[in-house]
Amino acid sequence: MSEKQFDLIVIGGGPGGYVAAIRAAQLEMKVLLIDDRTDDKGRPAPGGTCLNVGCVPSKALLDSSKHYHHIQHDYAAHGIGVKDLSIDVGQMIDRKRGVVRQLNGGLLQLFKANKIEFANGRGKLKNGRCVAVEPVEGDPWEATGKHVILAAGSVPFTIPNVEIDNEHIVDNVGALEFSSVPERLGIIGAGVIGLEMGSVWQRLGSEVILFEALKELLPVVDPDVSKAAARIFKKQGLDIRLDTRVASAEVVDGKVKVTFEQGDNTKTETFDKLLVAVGRKAASEGLLAEDSGVQLTDRGQVEVDEHCRTSVENVWAIGDLVRGPMLAHKASEEGVAVVETIAGSHGHINLDHVPWVIYTDPEIAWVGKTERQLTDAGIEYRAGSFPFAATGRGLAMGEAQGHVKILADAETDRILGAQIIGPTASEMIAEIVVAMEFAGASEDLARIVHAHPTLSEAIHEAALSVDKRAIHKAN
Ligand code: FAD
Ligand code: AMP
Repeated sequence: MSEKQFDLIVIGGGPGGYVAAIRAAQLEMKVLLIDDRTDDKGRPAPGGTCLNVGCVPSKALLDSSKHYHHIQHDYAAHGIGVKDLSIDVGQMIDRKRGVVRQLNGGLLQLFKANKIEFANGRGKLKNGRCVAVEPVEGDPWEATGKHVILAAGSVPFTIPNVEIDNEHIVDNVGALEFSSVPERLGIIGAGVIGLEMGSVWQRLGSEVILFEALKELLPVVDPDVSKAAARIFKKQGLDIRLDTRVASAEVVDGKVKVTFEQGDNTKTETFDKLLVAVGRKAASEGLLAEDSGVQLTDRGQVEVDEHCRTSVENVWAIGDLVRGPMLAHKASEEGVAVVETIAGSHGHINLDHVPWVIYTDPEIAWVGKTERQLTDAGIEYRAGSFPFAATGRGLAMGEAQGHVKILADAETDRILGAQIIGPTASEMIAEIVVAMEFAGASEDLARIVHAHPTLSEAIHEAALSVDKRAIHKAN
């Protein structure tokens, strides 16, 4: 067995691991990146959950289905008539695969250009920062790193009595590969993934029912936003059943029979497909040899401090494998911060300023604290909000649903949080993240010139509204 030496070994080639590897190579480290993922033809497929079965393919299908839905429901208002509209699900899925494949290839080229040694296979951390590599093809080998970054990501949670076969009962992988539009689609979990995938198939014609155990939709945002979302989703046709817990599901004669509890009642419904979207857990299984010395939390995450240091010196862990939001950009920025710390400079990520996005239509985005969190923490704040229905651009586009809300400290006016439900919320939230990173006040946003007519004027007006001086609404 050969033993190779590296400055850095990264296990996991998702947005956490591959970004860390590229940044390390830029800083002239000798890097080994190990990732086990292959595509349907057995070729290496770096990019992790995000690129292969998460962020990117889900957005490809969200965009395709949005086009279809807009043509059907919104074009007539613009005076555009379309005859003989049809849908080719196979082509839609192929296009999505093409986008993913293009990006897989781009990453492999980047690894080459940065002289990163890429191993397609499984890595396991042993004692002394030694990593055992089990390649997809060829014999096992070992390597030792001065530093090791664990970036193995996450896998879907499962629930008892609901067995995923990825044909009838699917997780995110199966839900991105349906060969036709299911007539009735059941979804367990009305969280980010459930709402996004539910939107895709509902727009394409499925009757979609979401079962959610919680009493409230999206408790991660404030009630004004979640209630607006619930109203809009209902109008779109998503049937969201709150306070409803799925107890079991079984496949009978090619259909999925779902048993769920609502209060004291137990009921059943039958679906063509069932998507299980009840959250994700750290992929720590099989990652660590018994003598690795790396400690896990009781939830199976790798235990880290605020700098992503594990219990073993010079072994670091990032992304979905550790505490904090399970988001691609959080994983990437942790990767950069760790590598820059290793290189002796200052690596830092502020988890309080990580933006979240749900890519439904309209999109929902937020950053920082909610009103609920501020109230619980006893922090006094002022809130300003502004509806897209009062913006010229929103109305001109025919996309004027939702609003922007900004929360600022009552005394200092420093921005503490923001929530946007509306068109391009995913892009607009960035302005508020920038303002928060620079410790900006709502007055700073209010004094910045925003182009007219744009959707970003709603941010400007919401900032003005914190001080009760919005121009295009009564304060
Ligand atoms: P991962 O992306 O999971 O990458 C880890 C990689 O390591 C995987 O390829 C895995 O196979 C590999 N691996 C694991 N163990 C080993 C081992 N022992 N040896 C070798 N390789 C190993 N986030 C967003 O920010 N925006 C979105 O729009 C978004 N949409 C999503 C949609 C869906 C349907 C899903 C499921 C997730 C979505 N996410 C989104 C979450 C996002 O995918 C994750 O937060 C992100 O991928 C985490 O990155 P990571 O690098 O930590 O791990
Ligand atoms: P997220 O964590 O955003 O992916 O959302 C997952 C959602 O699934 C959460 O809101 C959970 O409350 C919900 N959930 C988990 N288990 C069940 C269940 N058995 N029945 C219905 N909803 C569930």
